[in-house]
Amino acid sequence: MKAAVLKAPGVMELEDYPDPALPRGGALLEILACAVCGTDLKMLGAGHRDLELPRILGHEMVGRILDVDGDSSLAEGDRVQIWPGIACGRCRPCLRQADNLCPEIRIMGFNCDGGFAQLLALPRQSLSGGVNLLPSGADPCLAALAEPLACCINGQEQAAVSRTDRVLICGGGPIGALHALLAECRGCEKIIITERMPHRISLLRKHTGANVVNLAEDPGRAALREEIGSSGVDVILTATPQTRLDGKLLKLLSPGGRLCVFSGPAPGFRRGVVDFAAIHYNEISITGAYGCTSRQDQLAVELLTSGRIKADWLITRKTNLEGFSDAFSHSNERMGMKSVVCVS
Ligand SMILES: [Zn+2]
Ligand SMILES: [Zn+2]
Repeated sequence: MKAAVLKAPGVMELEDYPDPALPRGGALLEILACAVCGTDLKMLGAGHRDLELPRILGHEMVGRILDVDGDSSLAEGDRVQIWPGIACGRCRPCLRQADNLCPEIRIMGFNCDGGFAQLLALPRQSLSGGVNLLPSGADPCLAALAEPLACCINGQEQAAVSRTDRVLICGGGPIGALHALLAECRGCEKIIITERMPHRISLLRKHTGANVVNLAEDPGRAALREEIGSSGVDVILTATPQTRLDGKLLKLLSPGGRLCVFSGPAPGFRRGVVDFAAIHYNEISITGAYGCTSRQDQLAVELLTSGRIKADWLITRKTNLEGFSDAFSHSNERMGMKSVVCVS
């Protein structure tokens, strides 16, 4: 098969790669679409905690079942979205439905091969809960956005986002945009989103109900303070690694507020001083979110394919597998939003 293989930091090449074998109790998948994630860019540029090389990246995958080993409700030809985690199913996090926190988890596109390829082997574990059947007529490129949306569901569940909340989203890239759409879907009272790139700002203004603050403009900070008002926001979701995590950020929260450290903070942005007395008196909660559970992934597929969340506008570049580097540079330039590699 053809696959885009990451061989060393900065070196990814399309090459002939051995076809994966049908795993015992698993399935073989023909990839239809795989979206480029900020984490893929990070892995290409600088590596990642969970990355092992050489590796086929890609964890936002949709495909068509080619073959299944053993008994399964899946059949050849079924179109499915894949939860990229391979969890043990037996540990305490797995048993309390937090399978993204399984200490034995392997993640396709991180420490085993992912979706920027023609074929993918789905292990036995994936077939119990990690494969979501798409309704007929569903667009595979759109369904490829389910995994990042599921990660946002995780972040908003961690921060207990609800209808009465005023939410601040720091960063208006694809993840910030998905957070805004999800918060809207949850009926949040007010959604504020900060961004600097003009193309992204106009897309957000056109397609979301969020109040978009342009931080690159002169009165950016003042405009943000005005949007937040004197009472503060109930929830802050970080959707860029460049959000400075410190006491100043926490001061934007109203009493009872929640901060979700969603984006992995870049070095230099993660060592701020936090006033624990303020956390005590104001009952502030700080939480993190990494990846998504298989349950959240299934919910995301339902939200996208039913049209309850309209996210097709987020796809601003489509390429074939040969054009994967164009998809990566489109994402890297941050001019548009999301690139999807349509494999077949
Ligand atoms: Zn991702
Ligand atoms: Zn486990």
